[in-house]
Amino acid sequence: MSTGCLFCNIVARTTPASIVLEDEHVLAFRDLRPVAPSHALVVPKKHITGINDATPEDAALLGQVLLGARTVAEQLGVGASGYRLVLNQGPDGGQSVFHVHCHVMGGRPMTWPPG
Ligand code: AMP
Repeated sequence: MSTGCLFCNIVARTTPASIVLEDEHVLAFRDLRPVAPSHALVVPKKHITGINDATPEDAALLGQVLLGARTVAEQLGVGASGYRLVLNQGPDGGQSVFHVHCHVMGGRPMTWPPG
């Protein structure tokens, strides 16, 4: 838990969110400003500021984030049609919330390269 971290506050339920998945290690909720018909975020309950701050001890937890993202995609009904997973890191990566999160986006064809 990091004081003042928005996603820690969502994990702690002091900030509301539309939660779609929870287990012991991860929480997933709908993005407040979706950029695709289905758009959710999967976060580790443990505060990790960004992927640059993850340690080898976080490897299993990050795997749980990815497997959670797959489950979320299935739950949102885009598992078979396909979806995009994104982790933004730092200014050039477009990171705006400094708690590791994996975007799960689907429900429309994605383009490449991303903007
Ligand atoms: P990023 O830019 O990769 O750090 O992504 C942060 C994401 O968090 C953005 O897509 C925001 O729309 C989303 N977001 C910001 N505040 C909230 C919130 N209170 N609940 C859900 N999603 C949020």
